[in-house]
Amino acid sequence: MPEYNPSDLPNGHSATPAVSSPTAYQPRYIDIGINLADPIFRGRYRGKVAHPDDLEGVVARAVEVGCTKLIVTGSSMKSSRNALQLAKQFPGTVFTTAGIHPCSSSIFGLSHQKHHEESEEVEEPEDHTPACGPDPTQPIQDGHGINHTRSEQIIKDLADLIAQARTHTVTASPELVAFGEFGLDYDRLHFCSKEAQLHSFAAQLQLAASISPQLPLFLHSRAAHTDFVRLLKDAFGPRLERLEKGGVVHSFTGTAEEMRELMDLGLYIGINGCSFKTAENCDVVREVDLSRLMIETDGPWCEVRPAHEGWKYLVEWEAKAKAAAEAEAEAQQQQQQQQAKKNQKKEPEVPDRFKVVKKEKWVEGAMVKGRNEPCTIERIARIIAGIKGVSVEEVCEAAWANTVNVFDVDG
Ligand SMILES: [Zn+2]
Repeated sequence: MPEYNPSDLPNGHSATPAVSSPTAYQPRYIDIGINLADPIFRGRYRGKVAHPDDLEGVVARAVEVGCTKLIVTGSSMKSSRNALQLAKQFPGTVFTTAGIHPCSSSIFGLSHQKHHEESEEVEEPEDHTPACGPDPTQPIQDGHGINHTRSEQIIKDLADLIAQARTHTVTASPELVAFGEFGLDYDRLHFCSKEAQLHSFAAQLQLAASISPQLPLFLHSRAAHTDFVRLLKDAFGPRLERLEKGGVVHSFTGTAEEMRELMDLGLYIGINGCSFKTAENCDVVREVDLSRLMIETDGPWCEVRPAHEGWKYLVEWEAKAKAAAEAEAEAQQQQQQQQAKKNQKKEPEVPDRFKVVKKEKWVEGAMVKGRNEPCTIERIARIIAGIKGVSVEEVCEAAWANTVNVFDVDG
């Protein structure tokens, strides 16, 4: 089948013209972590329909900014299956992962009574991905033992899903490009106990190490570095020498020391809006080797906000882009330049490339306020470039090459 082309879509692109880039380089992006299977991208918010399904518009906006490959996160059995469906709907554009997120791992616990598939239907009919940040209002879950019979069944189901996905492919290259999302998240123990998370991660690592050929890993580690690295080494050896295809630790928010240890183990670092919240976060991003960098949005979560430290780099980028546009206009015509200046005075410091509306005011072609989506990945690249003092081109090309190299999505 031909590659997905946004011009085939019924959805119009009501993009306001972007400020021209400081260079002629046309950026290209691969969003390595986008939760596109979340019902929010179908217009459903916490089980309630707020607007029509606009998934095709979301994908079209991504492609329009140059984000032509999306690796959709599978974070439960259900979302992994749904992600695979999306890959078939957008061949050559959408690729997927399959795994069980630490926050979805309470299904392994004894306190989780029903069969996991039934319980997903009953308790999480919409299967929303867990929010990016911790929720201190929720009580922390205690471990009550592991249901080993159910655990065996879950791991077998996951193994079957992966085997099937690898044999039934639409395009020549497989849609399923990584094992995950899985790992540990001690910031959000209200979703799942530490005990169940540790069991889930170890059991999935064992599966990941046993399948042949192995898949690269899409990993999540939050406030759990020591246990995270220990379990990885238990599964793949002290230098991860038995990890054949490598992997990425996505949505990185740890310390520089932790990041260096992961890079030394040969792993890649995924950067999104959550990685720019504080000055300390940005200092860590500065230290990520370009040869180890991948970029992502983690939509619908983790958007970059004006209160985040990283925002100032966007303001800087826009100022430079404006200066470049002005110089161009001057060369063309004096009068036009004056008009441009007049218009620019009214613009916000960091204008939105696409119209943004509240979900209640949804119109076709618009982004929804608070629902991050893959077209915002250009902001991630600009901020990283600003923090590291390199060009957007260097960031984009490094992240593209790393991602293609590990996940083989360029076929
Ligand atoms: Zn994650």
